[in-house]
Amino acid sequence: MNIFTKTKDIEEYLLQLRQAGKTTGFVATMGALHQGHLSLIQQAQQSNDVVICSIFVNPTQFNDPADLEKYPRPIADDIQKLEQAGCDILFNPEVSEIYADHEQWHLNIGELEHLLEGKFRPGHYQGVTQVVYKLFNIIKPDTAYFGQKDYQQVMVISKMVQLLNMPVKLVMCAILREPDGLAMSSRNIHLTADDREHSLILSKTLNWVKDNFDSDKIVEIKAAAEQQITSEPGVELEYFEIVDGDTLHPANQNTKNIVALLAARVGKTRLIDNMIIRP
Ligand code: AMP
Repeated sequence: MNIFTKTKDIEEYLLQLRQAGKTTGFVATMGALHQGHLSLIQQAQQSNDVVICSIFVNPTQFNDPADLEKYPRPIADDIQKLEQAGCDILFNPEVSEIYADHEQWHLNIGELEHLLEGKFRPGHYQGVTQVVYKLFNIIKPDTAYFGQKDYQQVMVISKMVQLLNMPVKLVMCAILREPDGLAMSSRNIHLTADDREHSLILSKTLNWVKDNFDSDKIVEIKAAAEQQITSEPGVELEYFEIVDGDTLHPANQNTKNIVALLAARVGKTRLIDNMIIRP
């Protein structure tokens, strides 16, 4: 695997590959890689000549400095996992390589950035679009792969690509889960043994909603789901919403594409999860 830390170097290398007619697939990550990340790499490998992964813990998308501080950074392990997965290129820049001092700008992508996650993490999606815009400009991938795990993020990036006519195709990849249902996440390592038990209520409830969706009105299903989660010890629900998967506005019985999304604190760890209820 070729590892680059400098923007200029990876740009030059990728230019040569493109000139040689190679297609490129890109997976952006913040590291602490798990099978979920690797499944994106595998999907990229199926349709591209060259796969590029970035590891960059983007400071501008953290609204809580303590969260940024404690974000796991096991770079040696990550490199080994990428090598084993057969990833071709790693881009692992320093913050100063991506941002100039006191850089302050953001893209206006409309209401999407203020709904759901945006309400609880103000400025988060401004940081996400900022860094993905920069990474797309550096990597210039033909196709970029993002996880459904961050459903709203996929929508936000797709809105940015559409508004700015960016020449990249986006692919949303399925959520990888632990055998007991917990969605894989770099943050799961912060869960204590008790938290880990309690965290199961999140995927259990999403499955319950999917299985029982047609048995009652949406408001009743949502209320029952909230009740299930809030009665679990050690779990503090931030939101549970059943929305139109195209707009993130509350769904009604006629909505075609329905997604249930949630965020909760389990112990000290904030987790998100979602499930497509009606594709
Ligand atoms: P992150 O490192 O958390 O920024 O995630 C990098 C990419 O991996 C994002 O597109 C995530 O949506 C995706 N991802 C994270 N967890 C999972 C998972 N459990 N299954 C599939 N994709 C995931």
